Amino acid sequence: MSVKSSRLVAAIAALGMASVSHAASPVLVIHGGAGVIKREMSPARDKAVRAALTLALKNGYAQLKAGKPAVDAVAAAITVLEDDPNFNAGKGSVFTHDGKNELDAAIMDGNTLEAGSVAGVHRVKNPILLARAVMEKSQHVMLVGEGAEEFARQAGIELVDPSYFRTDERWQQLQKALKEDAEHTKHSDVETAKHFGTVGAVALDADGHLAAGTSTGGMNDKRWGRVGDSPIIGAGTYANSGCAVSGTGWGEYYIRTVAAHEICMRVTQMRVPLRRAAAEVINQEIPSMGGNGGAIAVDANGTVTMPFNTDGMYRGWIGADGVPHVAIYGDEDDGTAEPLPAAESNSGP
Ligand code: ASP
Repeated sequence: MSVKSSRLVAAIAALGMASVSHAASPVLVIHGGAGVIKREMSPARDKAVRAALTLALKNGYAQLKAGKPAVDAVAAAITVLEDDPNFNAGKGSVFTHDGKNELDAAIMDGNTLEAGSVAGVHRVKNPILLARAVMEKSQHVMLVGEGAEEFARQAGIELVDPSYFRTDERWQQLQKALKEDAEHTKHSDVETAKHFGTVGAVALDADGHLAAGTSTGGMNDKRWGRVGDSPIIGAGTYANSGCAVSGTGWGEYYIRTVAAHEICMRVTQMRVPLRRAAAEVINQEIPSMGGNGGAIAVDANGTVTMPFNTDGMYRGWIGADGVPHVAIYGDEDDGTAEPLPAAESNSGP
């Protein structure tokens, strides 16, 4: 490729437009939330979480191997984690201050730059599927609350009784937070970001196209219709032709740093290598403001990164060899631990 034409390709990619595609080796990356995840977790829970992450990777990767688009893999992987009560998404979501489960989700197709998201829903079994329906079947990008549920009915998305989402563990987490509220003691779940548990996926498909998705119950004891970063395109979820990101962490900070878009813009506009771009935003910018959390990301070359600044992050990826790689703790090798690429931005071809 001549320097001129490669610059043109780079310029198109930088705009996040759909024009560049090539045969690629599919990759799927997932997370099940970042937080205080210590090795004192029970062996049974450790095993159940790893099994769920493995199943999500296998189901999502099967879509990619069958030649399906990245959005199919993202939706398939996230659906598994939404259905599993160990994660703060779908069944097993945290409770609001008022004792409800209020769910948010988003999906973005990096090839078309189309996106769909939902926030504050109480009856949608798999919010990621509703977000996808918003993207594909409505003229809007983001629907909230009762209107989103009315659209779900019309789009044939499965609705359940709100009690479906309840787990006793999450209920006890809320009781603890309410007690702290009443005693005016430090709200440990917010102060120390104890455990988040949001789920997300990013994928590169065989056509070289990227997608990202995220689903969450939000944060324990949230009030007044609070919406976090997960369903906000650019904050917790973003994909273009060169980069796909799903975040998990203290959502207010991800919104204020527009974290997912910020990572992708560094990659596609500033030509910063993906792993460095993600580390800068997740491990420098967000903590410097007082926030914490993690993210998963993949670029158009299939480079995978999973940075986090908490004790652990449920995470995994699967690539060319078809072997699921799953990790939980911060000191656990997840197969992506090469040294970070140099800090100076890559000036391109
Ligand atoms: N980012 C989510 C939120 O703030 C929480 C999480 O990642 O678990 O709603």
